[in-house]
Amino acid sequence: MTLPARQIIPELFEVEKLAQDFKGLVHLEKLSEVSARGYTMPLHGLRIGTEDKTKPTLALFGGVHGLERVGTHVLVSFLQHILYRLSWDKELQELFQHCRIVSIPIINPLGMAFNKRSNANGVDLMRNSPVEAEKGGKTIALVSGQTISPRIPWFRGNPNQPEIETQTVVDFCQRELFESEQVISLDFHSGFGLRDRLWYPWAKSPKPFPHETDILRLKNLFDKTYPYHVYIIEHQADSYMTHGDLWDHIYQKYTEKNKNGVYLPLTLEMGSWLWVRKNPLQAFSATGYFNPVKKHRYSRVMRRHLNLIEFLLRANLNNQAWLKT
Ligand SMILES: [Zn+2]
Repeated sequence: MTLPARQIIPELFEVEKLAQDFKGLVHLEKLSEVSARGYTMPLHGLRIGTEDKTKPTLALFGGVHGLERVGTHVLVSFLQHILYRLSWDKELQELFQHCRIVSIPIINPLGMAFNKRSNANGVDLMRNSPVEAEKGGKTIALVSGQTISPRIPWFRGNPNQPEIETQTVVDFCQRELFESEQVISLDFHSGFGLRDRLWYPWAKSPKPFPHETDILRLKNLFDKTYPYHVYIIEHQADSYMTHGDLWDHIYQKYTEKNKNGVYLPLTLEMGSWLWVRKNPLQAFSATGYFNPVKKHRYSRVMRRHLNLIEFLLRANLNNQAWLKT
């Protein structure tokens, strides 16, 4: 017997519930669907704020890797928070007339349903774009993306024929981000290291990406606004380089389309090794490496990133305060 989709992914129910609970404040749309083993699941896109796509846009993405459920949880709990505040906070309503949030909270619902990092075809969606890593940097065998077998993690699939999930994200970004000259995206992951890291491009190269000056200005603003923040903010290739990174790919497409625009794609990699070290039994469960299990730790993780996301929203809107003139 197959369980209903929303029973094996309660996260899907939580996303759909946002649209029911906050009618008129959030717009939910089914962008595409994916099927395997008798399940068909939607990829939902959300929009909050002005419908003017030229306005500053913050884009939030989660659930690329099906095991890393906590990323979707942090994202959805932020949306719940901001939508609830929008229902009573007049200043915030005013703010959202000048900016917008768009989101795909669960990019890989089948991976989440089947407790897999990859999608149902065994493809790692963060290695599936046509971008190749440059020679000479810090690539790690297999981990940086492999074309040997879908049975081994980090399988790239066919980057010239992207998976439905990859194509859905690319199409969504093209439609929702590319008309704006001021875009920040944040993609939520968990699993690498002891500390929470904020990565900026490239994943494909140790060289600076064209908007590195802007990202360093944003970092400086964040460091001064939140002097005790917890993040290591670094060029992704400082940790390791990958082939087929989705954000390198979308960033390149954006800069071709919007020459005057500023797009800063960020990846939040929540360091989960600390959760495992403090609670070693977690290592024995399939998702334990990637998600906090104990209740107090879970609550702490839900609270921990709210300031960061709200900072990005406000800094994106008030870009004259930090962008070079
Ligand atoms: Zn991940």
